[in-house]
Amino acid sequence: MRVAFLGLGIMGRPMAANLVKAGYEVAVWNRTPGKVVEGARAAQSPADAANGAEVIWMCVSDTKAVETVLFGPQGVESTIASGAIVVDSSTISPTAERQFADRLRAKGVDYVDAPVTGSKVAAEAGSLIFMVGGDEAVLAKIDPLFKAMGKQIFRMGETSKGQAAKLVMNLQIALIYEGFAEALTLAAKLGVNLESLLPLIQASMVRSGVVEYKAPFVLKRDFTPNFPLRLMLKDIRLARDAAKEARVKLPGLETVEEVYEMAAEDGHEDLDYAATLTLLEKWAGVEVKGAA
Ligand code: NAP
Repeated sequence: MRVAFLGLGIMGRPMAANLVKAGYEVAVWNRTPGKVVEGARAAQSPADAANGAEVIWMCVSDTKAVETVLFGPQGVESTIASGAIVVDSSTISPTAERQFADRLRAKGVDYVDAPVTGSKVAAEAGSLIFMVGGDEAVLAKIDPLFKAMGKQIFRMGETSKGQAAKLVMNLQIALIYEGFAEALTLAAKLGVNLESLLPLIQASMVRSGVVEYKAPFVLKRDFTPNFPLRLMLKDIRLARDAAKEARVKLPGLETVEEVYEMAAEDGHEDLDYAATLTLLEKWAGVEVKGAA
């Protein structure tokens, strides 16, 4: 099967590499030249990559990037064949995804949204979790590709429902981490250190996967990006936009968005979103103490 993979960022490059490893004939393209995947053909444009491909898989930053890759100059639309399948693993607006799908379906193309959870480590290990939207028959055709890159696939409904589920997931991650970070900040101010607090959290119903994953990084004050703050802020904004369209009020997320905006203004946007803690610390005039 001939596959085009568009976008070789933190997530895209290891995903494409896993497709090559699984034996697919892969053409890759990245906006900024120089990123390559061993064993894959380096295409000159999205149109070049999509030419003759049966599956076109994307993993780029945001809604605008997906629109450009599909419909911009030298975009996928100009060469894609009827019967091809487009899969989008970027996290973007569910409404826009539906519109992109409708435009390509008019050309006889099937369209699946398949955002992921799991960071760079899971992308490298081929153990991503996909939440997908699309026709079951189409999903069955690309099932081996999902298996080459991920460990679990959850079908959430028709096209765009994967994106809707992804926004709902990241809303929870942002709020749970904010709760953890605010708790650590108050604990520091009240004289309780992180290493004493963590076993208590783990022993009680307060424990969570988010805390379990993030606590070791916070202990080391390692804010290098696993999931950059700028991307979490993008997802918070996508969730707020989707909520606005659906007339749903999200007061907690509104406040957390302001925290992320201020942390970005403080120059932390390329750090991990865990660095929002440093803003709370600055306001409180404390530093959460980890290992000495
Ligand atoms: P990243 O490292 O910032 O890579 C973004 C990719 O998008 C790069 O290849 C970039 O190309 C490309 N791009 C950006 N704007 C573009 C445009 N206008 N036209 C064409 N290409 C464009 O991001 P990532 O971490 O791989 O994330 C990719 C997607 O997966 C995002 O939607 C993100 O929210 C989602 N995601 C990420 C994680 C994570 O842990 N990192 C986890 C789950 C989901 P250049 O190289 O030219 O900049």
